[in-house]
Amino acid sequence: MPQIRKDLIVSRWVIVATERARRPAAFVDPVKHSTDSAHCPFCKPSAEQPLLTNGQVKVFKSGTPFFSDAQPFNRQKHGLYETSPSWGSHEVVVESPDHIANMADLPLEDIQKVFETYAKRMEIHHKDHTIRYVLAYKNYGVAAGSRPIGHARSQIMAVPVNPIRVKDKITGAKRYFDFHERCLFCDLIQQERKDSSRVILENREFIAMTPFASRFPFEVWVIPKRHSCNFAQGIAGNENQLAQIMKELLLRFKVGLKDPAYNYVIQSAPFENGGGYKRYPTIEEDYHWHIELTPRLTRVAGFERGTGFYINPIPPEKTAEFLREIKI
Ligand SMILES: [Zn+2]
Ligand SMILES: [Zn+2]
Repeated sequence: MPQIRKDLIVSRWVIVATERARRPAAFVDPVKHSTDSAHCPFCKPSAEQPLLTNGQVKVFKSGTPFFSDAQPFNRQKHGLYETSPSWGSHEVVVESPDHIANMADLPLEDIQKVFETYAKRMEIHHKDHTIRYVLAYKNYGVAAGSRPIGHARSQIMAVPVNPIRVKDKITGAKRYFDFHERCLFCDLIQQERKDSSRVILENREFIAMTPFASRFPFEVWVIPKRHSCNFAQGIAGNENQLAQIMKELLLRFKVGLKDPAYNYVIQSAPFENGGGYKRYPTIEEDYHWHIELTPRLTRVAGFERGTGFYINPIPPEKTAEFLREIKI
């Protein structure tokens, strides 16, 4: 019989298949992208001035931005409805001058520079009083929402409102802290290390595990062992440790799942008012930044849309075991 499991942070239920679970090797859907560097817009020298250069890594304004500084944020009421120009910043992080598609294949130093670059951009946006949240994320492969260009890049969005998913996480983490007077993520790391069935790998600073109530097959969370609510402050001095664990995980996906599409999102704390946390005064102690990394191997269907439940066709203990054993 399938099992329902509750997510500790956002109280969301998922259904996890048990007896009829698919085998890990059945989830294979390799990405298709162009190897044609002659027509790659990221291989050509750009006419645009980069917003930031960090070693080989360059950040540009997106050519087709969802958020821009063309018009200020200005909330307008239309009866029940509300609108505003989508003020903010939409940036593309070009991770290498070489036509390499998958971050897994970049040298460790370049991956380290990518994470450093996210931190640098976040700190710049942090000084802007109107920005509430900065999301750094990656879409790899068409199934993950990318165009089939085949050149490693990721995105940064700086937005004037706080995303609902982040609010849900902050609220859940605060509820736990109010009751236990401890950080939920710090407790979770302790329990998962003791249990070990969902741990894939760890290094000095980070642990990678499949969450107990995983929504998707092979969903992985990368959590820093050192408590911090803020990505940029949290990785300072440990960027190489993050690069090392991410490269290792991405290579295991590539080898074990035959180069699947994937997304990762960095879930840092929101900020506002030029650096303070007035709206969330306890967030520094009750929230803990982390990364969600998800290969895109299944589709969301009607049941998920209607209920907000997710159906995961394979238990996270099985996918953790599979990823643990992959030799790269
Ligand atoms: Zn290219
Ligand atoms: Zn913590």
